[in-house]
Amino acid sequence: MREPRALIVSTLLVLAASPGPATSRAAAQVPTPESVLGFSVGADFELATYEQALEYFQQLDAASDRVELRQVGETSYGRPWYVALISSAENLRDAERYREIAHRLAHPDEGMTEDEARRLSEEGRAIVHIDGGLHASEVAHAQHTIQLAYDLVTGDDDPEIAAILDEVILLLWFSINPDGQTMIADWYRENLGTPYEVASAPFLYQKYIGHDNNRDGYMINQIESRVVTRVDRHWEPQIVYNHHQSSPFPTRIWIPPFAEPISPNVHPLMWRTVNLVGMAMAQALEERGQKGAMHMGSGFDNWYPGFMDHANNFHNVASFLTETALYRYATPHFYTINDFPQSRRDLRPESLYASPWEGGWWRVGDAVDYMLTASVSVLDVAAKYRRDLLYNRYQAARDVVAQYRAGPPYGYFIPQDQRDPVAAAEMLRRLAFNGIDVTQLSEPVTFDGVTHEAGSWVIPMDQPNANFVRQLFAVQEYPDLREYPEGPPEQPYDVSGWTLPYQFDVRVVEARTPLGAEVRAAMTPLSAEPLAWDAGVDAQAWDSPPGVGFDSHPVARAVVPPEGTVQGGGSALVLDPAQNNTYKALARAWAQGARVRFAPGTASPDSGAAGTSGSWIVEGLGGSARASLVEDLRLRVSGGSAAGQSVGRPRIALYRPWNASMDEGWTRWLLEMYEVEFTSLYNADVRAGDLASRYDVIVLADMRPRSIVEGFAKGSVPPRYEGGVGPEGVRALETFVRDGGTLVTLNGSSHFALDEFHLPVRDVVRDVEREDYFAGGAIVELLVDPSHPVMSGMPERSKIFVGSSPVFTTEDGFEGRVLAKYPDNGSPLLSGYFLGEEHVNGYAAALEVQHGEGQVVMLGLKPQWRGQPFGTFKILFNAALYSSAVASQTPDNDAFWSPPQEAEEEAGGNGNGGGR
Ligand SMILES: [Zn+2]
Repeated sequence: MREPRALIVSTLLVLAASPGPATSRAAAQVPTPESVLGFSVGADFELATYEQALEYFQQLDAASDRVELRQVGETSYGRPWYVALISSAENLRDAERYREIAHRLAHPDEGMTEDEARRLSEEGRAIVHIDGGLHASEVAHAQHTIQLAYDLVTGDDDPEIAAILDEVILLLWFSINPDGQTMIADWYRENLGTPYEVASAPFLYQKYIGHDNNRDGYMINQIESRVVTRVDRHWEPQIVYNHHQSSPFPTRIWIPPFAEPISPNVHPLMWRTVNLVGMAMAQALEERGQKGAMHMGSGFDNWYPGFMDHANNFHNVASFLTETALYRYATPHFYTINDFPQSRRDLRPESLYASPWEGGWWRVGDAVDYMLTASVSVLDVAAKYRRDLLYNRYQAARDVVAQYRAGPPYGYFIPQDQRDPVAAAEMLRRLAFNGIDVTQLSEPVTFDGVTHEAGSWVIPMDQPNANFVRQLFAVQEYPDLREYPEGPPEQPYDVSGWTLPYQFDVRVVEARTPLGAEVRAAMTPLSAEPLAWDAGVDAQAWDSPPGVGFDSHPVARAVVPPEGTVQGGGSALVLDPAQNNTYKALARAWAQGARVRFAPGTASPDSGAAGTSGSWIVEGLGGSARASLVEDLRLRVSGGSAAGQSVGRPRIALYRPWNASMDEGWTRWLLEMYEVEFTSLYNADVRAGDLASRYDVIVLADMRPRSIVEGFAKGSVPPRYEGGVGPEGVRALETFVRDGGTLVTLNGSSHFALDEFHLPVRDVVRDVEREDYFAGGAIVELLVDPSHPVMSGMPERSKIFVGSSPVFTTEDGFEGRVLAKYPDNGSPLLSGYFLGEEHVNGYAAALEVQHGEGQVVMLGLKPQWRGQPFGTFKILFNAALYSSAVASQTPDNDAFWSPPQEAEEEAGGNGNGGGR
């Protein structure tokens, strides 16, 4: 297949000079895209980098008073990042006034009357966020924004465009992933005309998380997510439109309404507006003869609130995505009806797919044209319904406030005294950054029979964005939707449960009765003074870069955990592994030459019960170094004396495949954030062998075993990126373990160790059918033994995120220990969706397998999932520090777990053991 395609490609290169789409409305002084880029937008085999797009927008800004470029920050790789405001010159002159109106309607004062809201809606302008797409390998969206800007700026003689310029201020994120845009364009150019023209990129197109950059909407872990959130909360658009490319084949564009289920905590006006926009798009596409638009149909539900667009719906913003058809990069592709799935070959019109696409060429220019139609139709809706959009924002805010005054939850109390007080602050900072009002009690209050100390945080729910809080704090009950009655469950498009207090292991008290006058009087808004504090994740990045024209959100920085404390005397510091910053402290202690010891906990002698947690001890730090460790990291530690065995800083490696893994990226990001030193280990490094002389611990992120062993198929990518660790890499990893190293396998990569090292452990759910067992991303309760060092700091009953996770039992010859297990009976589910608990009851969720002199730590869970579960990060850190010096102190905990009695197979067969 590859050779013929290359031939087609070279023929088409000749055709590439033919004119591209929409170049007619040129105004003399405004530069056309091709005059700057050197090619027309959407031309075959051409992709503009971010730098080229920026150059174009700078020239457009200079030439037109309808465009204003503003720097909004810097990207992860340090690119200066700009957005464009596009509207009439008059509107741009008064943009600040319109921004203020948008704000007042989004956050109406207590006294705002309906008349005043009407007046403001009449005076204001619609503000619309449209972006060039987060997913950089979906290339067309970041190209279409260039043409969109040109078409708008030069569109005087088109009454539709003229009305848009008068009624709407477009906040155009012409690139919402500048790093990725350039990385992918460069990669494509490098391979153009070679056999690797359409090869997958061997890197993540966001520094750490690649495709997951669309799933960081409430956690805002990445710099890009914070910049977008800050700017959107600054402008308060009434519509957010986020472009994507992968419509269900053979449809040409997927547009709202969404599939079921939708999130419960959204004002219904938002869904209605989203649906209105979707229908208007379909109409506009049809009017232009652009066939193949489809609503609903596929699995694009709106359940997970972490999508960058969807997070806005909980802020009373009508927000949505579309998925335009994709081929690969800017290479055209020809489809015949025979490429279609059987069910689509009859080209039968459907109610929500009225003009089936018939096949033919599909080019990046076609995708650009569909996107232009879709974007302009959104702006057209905004122009026509401008007053309603603004007024509805007010209505939604008013209704949400009234709703939470009339019924629970009336508010949430978050005590400062937590197992990890910093985790509570981290959770609340994210909410504050996302535009939630967080207050703090200035004095103790007693409410519903509970006394809340001064300093406790309170989130009153009578605020316009309260739905966002509820969506994140509530326990998710994913509806049991079936593909047909009694059939397999309809899987959520993303995860089913995310409850933040569970993920952060933070105690939150819900107010079930109205907050009274006493509580209200003690609630103090957080100080807006920026604070120099670096106890959290990359505090620097919470700041607005200076002088770039957008406000930062200083309130988020005012959520500060309580001061660090040292209790008791003694020259050594005894660190509590329940606190994530303990691991930052260890990294700093090692870096400063301090001695570090691990003191093991004790196993419980009782059958099935958990033991006690071990602890880390730092000695030999000078007074000021010791004090700043405690203060800077807000640690609660005790002074003590040295105990346990001395542990040197382990040499940690994190496997980094060329077929890039988002989970590797998240793991890398988290280790960096907590200052854990490690080396990225590539295929060639693994194959080179002699790993034990270089590393103590090797971590495999959540990956399929085949990806690790085989990697990219031969011939699918340039040779240097081909293959995985291969047979010699497998041997090298096994030798590493046998020689005393620790291999940590996160979730799916546990199968790698099971399969390749032939360990006496079995995954009991590996072959269970989906209609019998499904746990695709939910929070469960696991019983944990903290006496195992990898579980240090975890409570005996832990809230842990699992998703497509292996569940273990042991077989003859097993030597090792079980670290965590599913409860013996009942559902382990805490939040989300979990089908088939009988398949997991009593089995192990994490274990350590002795193999030669070393060990494999298999975690059938996702302790660092998308950088979210602050309550379980410590499992990853503990595992990464589980060198043989620590492992040698692990107490025996044989009483904690024994393999469940497996039911007899029916009809006398003993065939496949427990894997039904
Ligand atoms: Zn996408």
